[in-house]
Amino acid sequence: MKVTFLGTGTSQGIPVIGSNHPVCLSLDPKDKRLRVSALVEWNDYTYVIDCGPDFRQQMLTNNVSKIDGILFTHEHSDHVAGLDDIRPFFFNQGDIPIYAHQRVLDTLRNRFEYVFVTEDKYPGAPGVKEHVIENTPFKLGDLDVVPINTFHNRVQVFGFRLNQFAYLTDVKTIEDSEIDKLKGVKVLVVNALREKPHHSHFNLEEAIAFIQKVKPQKAYLTHISHYMGFHEEVQQRLPDNIYLAYDNLQITI
Ligand SMILES: [Zn+2]
Ligand SMILES: [Zn+2]
Repeated sequence: MKVTFLGTGTSQGIPVIGSNHPVCLSLDPKDKRLRVSALVEWNDYTYVIDCGPDFRQQMLTNNVSKIDGILFTHEHSDHVAGLDDIRPFFFNQGDIPIYAHQRVLDTLRNRFEYVFVTEDKYPGAPGVKEHVIENTPFKLGDLDVVPINTFHNRVQVFGFRLNQFAYLTDVKTIEDSEIDKLKGVKVLVVNALREKPHHSHFNLEEAIAFIQKVKPQKAYLTHISHYMGFHEEVQQRLPDNIYLAYDNLQITI
């Protein structure tokens, strides 16, 4: 399985528009972070996790010409705003399968009503095939995906375990029974916003404590704010098996 980090930034991305913060002005490509998303590939399957406002650029940068579906973690704009840009995939492949909690599908239907209409659809509008995720395993291609139920302040968020790989973002709290579902993963991706605490995201300390409970071989941090600091400096302070992810990083599991 190959995973590509399409974006590793928090909701505004890095640089933030108009910001003179040193991290926003950094020339290190690892300090430039698009909105959070990942591409997961195995055998001939290609799935995207979340479809934020940078989706088009992410697909172009990584030469993605076919997707088998999109998994949504939750309905926040930095995770869904790029849905219209599935059009080139829709033109080639037909309706694009999307997987999400019923609440998230309802939100998408409100926001992108023209995508979901079945009658008298505007020519050129994309189409999707909806799949409801409940907190039970579901099939994706030839794989069983285990949803991981987490909370982002009041908002429910799904993380996903695909065999030895697990991807969680926008987590603030998670029950022990859900952490148990992550036991034995080789690679864990989890959000870490910055050092200071935040009402709806793990900060660095909380993310590290969570990783130490799950005990993966390696962990990658994502959904990073410019307040976290320079990539190179933060990486040097992290424990041995924990890495800051960066845009276009590829890992094989
Ligand atoms: Zn987010
Ligand atoms: Zn969010």
